[in-house]
Amino acid sequence: MIRTLAAASLLAAAPLAAQSIPSPDKVAALRDAALKGDQYAWDITEGLTTEVGPRLAGTDDEARARDWSVRKLTAMGFANVRVETFDMPVWVRSRESAEILAPFPQPMVIAALGNSASTGPEGLAGEIVAFDNIEALRSAPDEAVRGKIVFIDHSMPANQDGSGYGQFGAPRRQGPTLASKKGAAGIVIRSIGTDHHRNPHTGVMTFNDGARPIPAGALTNPDADQLLRILKRGQPVRMKIVLESRNLGTRQSGNVIAEVPGRDPSLPPILVSGHLDSWDQGTGAVDDASGVAIAAASAKRIMDAGRPLRTIRIVWFGAEEVGLFGGLDYRARHGKEPHYALIESDFGADRIWKVESKLGDARKAEAEAIGKALTPLGIVTGSFTEADGSDIGPMLADGHPGVGLSQDGTRYFDLHHTPDDTLDKVDPAQLRQNVAAWTTVLAILSGGIEEPKARKRR
Ligand SMILES: [Zn+2]
Repeated sequence: MIRTLAAASLLAAAPLAAQSIPSPDKVAALRDAALKGDQYAWDITEGLTTEVGPRLAGTDDEARARDWSVRKLTAMGFANVRVETFDMPVWVRSRESAEILAPFPQPMVIAALGNSASTGPEGLAGEIVAFDNIEALRSAPDEAVRGKIVFIDHSMPANQDGSGYGQFGAPRRQGPTLASKKGAAGIVIRSIGTDHHRNPHTGVMTFNDGARPIPAGALTNPDADQLLRILKRGQPVRMKIVLESRNLGTRQSGNVIAEVPGRDPSLPPILVSGHLDSWDQGTGAVDDASGVAIAAASAKRIMDAGRPLRTIRIVWFGAEEVGLFGGLDYRARHGKEPHYALIESDFGADRIWKVESKLGDARKAEAEAIGKALTPLGIVTGSFTEADGSDIGPMLADGHPGVGLSQDGTRYFDLHHTPDDTLDKVDPAQLRQNVAAWTTVLAILSGGIEEPKARKRR
């Protein structure tokens, strides 16, 4: 315990010292080569989504994805390729459907939210009680909700930085617990998404505060619009939902790790990451095959150029979607070890428009060099005191340094957690811009790359 405390306070008190910054010309050459011709990221994204497909955390599909990843990262020439496994609870969906029973009988398209209770094959029928938002449900008397199927609306707009997801995601994250506590029989929400297609958006939720699990699903945006129109006719609306699912109990997931060994192994590594697991309906191309691909492709490009001073560690986290289990396992194992910077890609593959960092005052020159080197890619420099990422979030909050490369999220929530998250949505040119940005950051943080000695001439 004392050792733990000492390590934690050291981490907070002693920011890592600055190191020399490679010449701008060398960094620019690596950046421009990636922008022009990177194939590594597409190769990984295409391979993972084609040869594995969907990879829900803790399932056999995710296990196949780990095997695929070990083979791929080994074949790419990375060192110390390994899997750190951990246990987690696993929930899987099966049959799901919805229909309006009255006053205007018709089918609707729905997906269960992760950890929904199962309705069983017979389904659940009940009267709809509708709310404009989570606050309206919160202030409703229990009698208005008891025994009914709650519907929660919201109005999430598309925007570049994805900031609507926190606020407008509340119906999914808090709605089921709130509805259950008020005695609802079930809950359907408007999909947390910005598209106008008949694709439901799933996502994880948990029942908190001892709330009894109830069936919980997301209607597509067009179906939510239709339900609202039907409700406006003023008659009681009855709906039937069938959301079958099973809890498989405790299963194994894992983080896949690989390294570009640095010339000085005693130096703290740079961690580059994304998450390997995906939701089950699409092939997880945007979320997050492209993220793991960007992380590994940029590390590979540094490795191709020579040996970096410090180690670059690639982590493909398991089980992000269903509760950050991979990030938390990595933190439990390695969170007390110093890291030079943490970086994660988990917001699709559209172009990066902003860089932020949290490297500490002593490393301001590095942060500024990163901003300057990224300018030709159309990337603006934001805060020097912030970085984010889902899996790495807890470690960033602990005080580890990090860099955040923000992708354009304008169309991200059109696809997020839907059957439509497939490879055709990844734009190869924008993917290369991502790799170029990441390669630039790694070139600067890696402490200089020693080029391989030229072959002797006779
Ligand atoms: Zn993700």
